[in-house]
Amino acid sequence: SRAKKYGKENRVSTTFGDVAGQEEAKRELVEVVDFLKNPQKYVNIGAEIPKGVLLVGPPGTGKTLLARAVSGEADVPFFTVSASEFMEMFVGVGASRVRTLFEDARKNAPAIIFIDEIDSIGRKRGAGIGGGHDEREQTLNQILSEMDGFDKQTSVIVMAATNRPDVLDPALLRPGRFDRQVTIDLPNLKEREAILKVHMRNKPLTSGVDVDEIAKSTPYFSGADLKNLVNEAALEAARINKVQIDMSDFYRALDKITLGLENASLTIT
Ligand code: ATP
Repeated sequence: SRAKKYGKENRVSTTFGDVAGQEEAKRELVEVVDFLKNPQKYVNIGAEIPKGVLLVGPPGTGKTLLARAVSGEADVPFFTVSASEFMEMFVGVGASRVRTLFEDARKNAPAIIFIDEIDSIGRKRGAGIGGGHDEREQTLNQILSEMDGFDKQTSVIVMAATNRPDVLDPALLRPGRFDRQVTIDLPNLKEREAILKVHMRNKPLTSGVDVDEIAKSTPYFSGADLKNLVNEAALEAARINKVQIDMSDFYRALDKITLGLENASLTIT
């Protein structure tokens, strides 16, 4: 099987079933899964498979999770790097890291490359303070030239995540690069309920736990915040030696988190 060709660490078992809500984003990404699973279908009819997909949305809304789900659904390897890592590298290292990343993916195609926090290197070049950061610019240029260099038959799709699409260099968004955007929003009430249920799956809860009530008490929570809330509730329960999590644990966890947020905003102001 294909699993033998690439490292264990590149295999992903995440599926769309692990992503609660985000129906619109999933609908758009099902198409990307098909590009990876049946590239020949597109090549035969003379269509060019898109190379770049930008996932846009606030922190913790599941952008990384969705990218991994595309990889899991298509059963193709996942090659990833966080763009902020490049900022810590010596001059020249970023570009060569990009080269190896793309080389590995091409060797194992069909494959996905995922670049998290693309805005940290993908900001408009030569703009503002610190414009002309050599390392950043070289790394960005390398990403652009790798994407331009894909031949039409290579089914490597580059997915990138950002919460600041407004600061991106327009060169990144040109046709043939990240010309597809998938928007991911904070979850609504129903979606919060669904996300809570995903993270409650393997946890012992009393029958009194009211998921709808918890969802109503968590406006503006992201998926990551909700996951954290469920874990905090479990910690609260275990701390007082309970074997099941009940509503009071969720309320205490919520208090703790909201208090933490208030303290955080106090230190900012
Ligand atoms: P960031 O921009 O901060 O990197 P992100 O948008 O990439 O965040 P993830 O890292 O994918 O977010 O989300 C963090 C965690 O939150 C996920 O691993 C998952 O456990 C949980 N989560 C987020 N969104 C969802 C969702 N829609 N359904 C289920 N779990 C979710």
